[in-house]
Amino acid sequence: MKSSDIIVIGGGIAGLSAASTLSKHARVTVLEAEGAVGYHSSGRSATMLHYALGDPLVRALTHASRGFFEAPPRDFTDVPLGHRMPVLIHSREDELAALDQLESAIAPFAQLERVDGAGICELCPVVRTGEGAAVAGLVDRNGIRLDTHALLQGHVRALRQNGGEIVTVARAIKVERSGEVWTVTTEHRDSLAAPILINAAGSWADAVATLGGVRPIGLAPLRRTIITFDAPDGEDLSGWPFAKTVGDELYFAPESGRLFASPMDEGPTDPCDAQPDEYEIALAAHRIEERTTMKVGRIQSRWAGLRTFAPDRHPVVGFDQQAEGFFWLAGQGGYGLQTSPAMAQIAESLIAATPWPLEAATAAQLSPGRFLGQAA
Ligand SMILES: Cc1cc2nc3c(=O)[nH]c(=O)nc-3n(C[C@H](O)[C@H](O)[C@H](O)COP(=O)(O)OP(=O)(O)OC[C@H]3O[C@@H](n4cnc5c(N)ncnc54)[C@H](O)[C@@H]3O)c2cc1C
Repeated sequence: MKSSDIIVIGGGIAGLSAASTLSKHARVTVLEAEGAVGYHSSGRSATMLHYALGDPLVRALTHASRGFFEAPPRDFTDVPLGHRMPVLIHSREDELAALDQLESAIAPFAQLERVDGAGICELCPVVRTGEGAAVAGLVDRNGIRLDTHALLQGHVRALRQNGGEIVTVARAIKVERSGEVWTVTTEHRDSLAAPILINAAGSWADAVATLGGVRPIGLAPLRRTIITFDAPDGEDLSGWPFAKTVGDELYFAPESGRLFASPMDEGPTDPCDAQPDEYEIALAAHRIEERTTMKVGRIQSRWAGLRTFAPDRHPVVGFDQQAEGFFWLAGQGGYGLQTSPAMAQIAESLIAATPWPLEAATAAQLSPGRFLGQAA
């Protein structure tokens, strides 16, 4: 049997960012069920960093993370981890109260401009404006479109440079605590032992806990659908924003010379290899035609991914008090990329006793104990 100091189950952004950070302190091995890292949620996201998501805690985690994307550690990557993309949140007359509320909520984190219909058209000429359509918007010119591939590969590289290891096609099928260690057996009957087990299995985190005899916390995977389609002829998309309705109805943005859009669906599902749903695909196209002047001709591509939430929609990070050495890193919902550097630093603080990195939240607010009736 092989041994390590820390086993991480899950090679998505959560597992890899924690693994690369902790590999500065310990021998870390990542087990990933699929043949490649980032195959599930992490490889299927809209890849934005913006503040129109979540609540004050999520915004604080996002804010604490953006420095990493803007100035990654030396040797982490040869390419930028993202590029600036403005964020435009637009609202009809009947949604103005929601826009005002969002403006107050985001203002502590980003410099916002309030624009009218003309300002909306200047930034994004296809958004429908005027009576019955958008009349006001909020613009944050400092949104970041993240490069997921660069981010994941940067963590893989950092982990390996520090002597860590990633094993793919290594689905954990047996997880048990014996004596001082967790032993994980993979589907190929390889076994690995370590005193600390990080459960970063995304939508499967409750299933992994159950495998190890640890109480699940009630995570809910919710499917989200994305389509891509051709932009209107002759439009230069280079300055276009990530454009979102103030309510959770629609977002769209430029994507490699085309556009992508999501109806922001949240279909409850079991953990799975999520597939796009025909109704949601049609809804995305319908909402694009309703909220913009664009026609969706041929849908060029479509995909779906799971956003997995804890009951209070806050991420879960910390040791389980009932299961020694069992560390939760789950429930990143729709913000797992943009909060990943802060989440990894929190995991580092709780496991390697480095300083607590976030003024805006306590360990108790993020701990699994809040669902399990345990103290942090
Ligand atoms: C459509 C969509 C849009 C999104 N947009 C954004 C956005 O704009 N910005 C943002 O920040 N976030 C966004 N997200 C959310 C973000 O993608 C997730 O929060 C994040 O990817 C979660 O990362 P993870 O590592 O927890 O999960 P995953 O990437 O799913 O990784 C978990 C891994 O665990 C592995 N695993 C599971 N069980 C086992 C086992 N038994 N043994 C071994 N391995 C196992 C899985 O194979 C998987 O690779 C979006 C998500 C979706 C679906």
